[in-house]
Amino acid sequence: MIVILKRGTQEREVEPIYKMLEECGIIAQEITGETTRMIGMAGDTSGISEDSILCFPCVERIMRVQEPYKLAGRKFHPEESVFDIGGQKIGGGHFAVMAGPCSVESEEQILAIAAAVKDSGASFLRGGAFKPRTSPYAFKGLGLEGLELLVMAKRKTGMPIVTEIMSSEYLDAFAELADVIQIGARNMQNFTLLSQVGALKKPVLLKRGLSSTIEELLMAAEYIMAGGSSEVILCERGIRTFETATRNTLDVSAVPVLKAKSHLPVVIDPSHATGYWYYVEPMALAATAAGADGLMLEVHNNPELALCDGAQSVTPQVFHRIMNKVGRVREAIASS
Ligand code: PEP
Ligand code: MN
Repeated sequence: MIVILKRGTQEREVEPIYKMLEECGIIAQEITGETTRMIGMAGDTSGISEDSILCFPCVERIMRVQEPYKLAGRKFHPEESVFDIGGQKIGGGHFAVMAGPCSVESEEQILAIAAAVKDSGASFLRGGAFKPRTSPYAFKGLGLEGLELLVMAKRKTGMPIVTEIMSSEYLDAFAELADVIQIGARNMQNFTLLSQVGALKKPVLLKRGLSSTIEELLMAAEYIMAGGSSEVILCERGIRTFETATRNTLDVSAVPVLKAKSHLPVVIDPSHATGYWYYVEPMALAATAAGADGLMLEVHNNPELALCDGAQSVTPQVFHRIMNKVGRVREAIASS
């Protein structure tokens, strides 16, 4: 439900509406457009009668929102969201590249890769400290030590860090050390974790589940936002289809579809989508041309020795080339 306020409404006239909504357990959010001012409501609004809201003199009219995702939806927030995370902007025309290894493996490795991707123009450093692996015998990350190494790389390069949380056991550490908390594809519907991470009120990068629909992705974002975070970045990282030539199938159409339905920034991860480093460049360019707000790319200085996802990791040299080409695609779009 959206409440449209009359022009020239004063703060003191709106306060009793917020108070009433709070008492009913509704999440209310102010939406200010160029000419209109509205209050968006999320939560169970069934207990609120339209008449009780229309009674307030400052209310012009009420609009019902059909989509089940209110906070993440465009109706609630018609303008594209722009987040400023540690000085790096994303969304609403600001493009951000998150680059780094699949996993943090050592101090030497993360510092070398961080310096290289920064030099080529990356704005965020990505790296996994806790890794979701299909096999219980595979390398599962350095854990807290990996998180500390990411912080060290951030101190040296100034790049904010994006890293995946897998368990609520480490919420405090992520709250303190991560700039963007990543929810991986396998946890996209771990609803308890989504709410707990939302409650930290930090920026979140939410990856689309392996076989999840766009609506399910937006509902997962809604969980995080209802939990308290207003900064959710959506990430398309390929979905399961019958095709086996690539690790997953990159759904490039998710970019325009998500942007039509939501105000949140959309990032594409062509590394996990394709599974092969030589397909990363064309898909990064396609994602950029499709209007993505950014990219997440796996970069390794020694892919053949990588402890995780070496086959899909590009070298710093290839990353540099991709960054140049992405820049040219962006320029071409801006001038078209
Ligand atoms: C990752 O980014 O390292 C990762 C595990 O990605 P996904 O959750 O998309 O598989
Ligand atoms: Mn990976």
